[in-house]
Amino acid sequence: MSSQIQVFKFGGASVKDAAAVRNVVAILKSYANPKTVVILSAMGKTTNALERIHQSYLGGSNKDAMQRIAELKSYHNSILVELFPNSNHTVFFDFNNLFQELEANVLLEPEASFDKSYDRFVHFGERIATTILSAYLSEQSFNTFHVAARDFICTDNSYRDALVDWDLTVSKINEAASTWFASEKPCIVLTQGFIAQSAEGAPISLGREGSDFSASIFAYSLNASEMVIWKDVSGVMNADPKLMPDAIALEHISYREAVELAYYGASVIHPKTIKPLENKNIPLRVKSFLNPAGEGTIIDRIGTDDKKVPSYIFKFNQVLLSLFPRDFSFINEKNISEIFSLFSRNNIKVRMMQNSAISFSVCFDYEPARLSVLLEDLNKLYSVRYNEQVDLVTIRHYGSIDAINIIKGRKTLLEQKSRSTWQMILNK
Ligand code: ASP
Repeated sequence: MSSQIQVFKFGGASVKDAAAVRNVVAILKSYANPKTVVILSAMGKTTNALERIHQSYLGGSNKDAMQRIAELKSYHNSILVELFPNSNHTVFFDFNNLFQELEANVLLEPEASFDKSYDRFVHFGERIATTILSAYLSEQSFNTFHVAARDFICTDNSYRDALVDWDLTVSKINEAASTWFASEKPCIVLTQGFIAQSAEGAPISLGREGSDFSASIFAYSLNASEMVIWKDVSGVMNADPKLMPDAIALEHISYREAVELAYYGASVIHPKTIKPLENKNIPLRVKSFLNPAGEGTIIDRIGTDDKKVPSYIFKFNQVLLSLFPRDFSFINEKNISEIFSLFSRNNIKVRMMQNSAISFSVCFDYEPARLSVLLEDLNKLYSVRYNEQVDLVTIRHYGSIDAINIIKGRKTLLEQKSRSTWQMILNK
């Protein structure tokens, strides 16, 4: 049964500067239920900046890492001073402590695992963001509980792609919720997206753009009545408006359609977000924080608009890799399972695949470090050919002329068509 709790997720662009933070507060004033959980991402492009700090640290350049931390601090500080004219406000103390903690990380020995030290750095973005927003909400007289997502979302030790321990997470969230929502007084529970606590007690992330998933973990655990993702576009678009300016928002789609779009790479929702919502039939609305009165897109079990318009998804910077057994034997189930276990071991997600009698082709995101380890493994078993810098184009509910404008004389390296989906790998 639904609990009348609403879960809102605000992404980095919605809090990228002081005016944007004020806009979020105005949205909460007008649209939040008396019981609302707000999941917040890091401000602006903070996670990218933290990734670069981590790179400098691993590259042994502490000076560069410290310099970049100073730049990140000054970006956040400019937001703080605009929101809090009183420089004695306690938020400055909490803010300075967080940055000191981040700086202290630069002095630690790197872990053996890249992924673990990555999470140790990148998780700071969300903590800084909620520290600022919670103080501002309190200033604006909201009854706010600022809580640490790490105290609630518990996972395994798969750094950068954590697997949630659902039983533990649901029970921790519900135990705390009985306090948060004990009184009739309206309240906002504010926490971080993207970050969680690993089984061994370290900070861990749910994967880039993972705040949507955090929100759906809270929505699922609390049997929320609705979840809203506030974005800078008017809903789930049928294409990236930066690439196709006449893109439109889909009005009402099913969980199934949303998950397919996310899976093929539409950047609108993190792919893991939908399942928990579908399992509890919690409607998801995707709305614009720039036009909060707009309807946005509704995602639920009904989805009346699933097939009305084609959707276009572009994934750039892909690798198309083809494998051939060295002894000219067939590609069989054994090879396929061997190949997939290598992909899984190297944490590479396959976006498209196809096999013939003596070849197997796969497409995945280009990440130089992961690719070189994978190639080392594969070369032992197969003769390998690959193209870097290819694009994967997916059209859902395609029409007859759809692809012509997209291909525009480029070479199609591989193609796959089902009744609903057309995928093409194109060279530059
Ligand atoms: N801040 C994280 C990222 O930029 C998570 C998120 O925004 O969802 O990937």
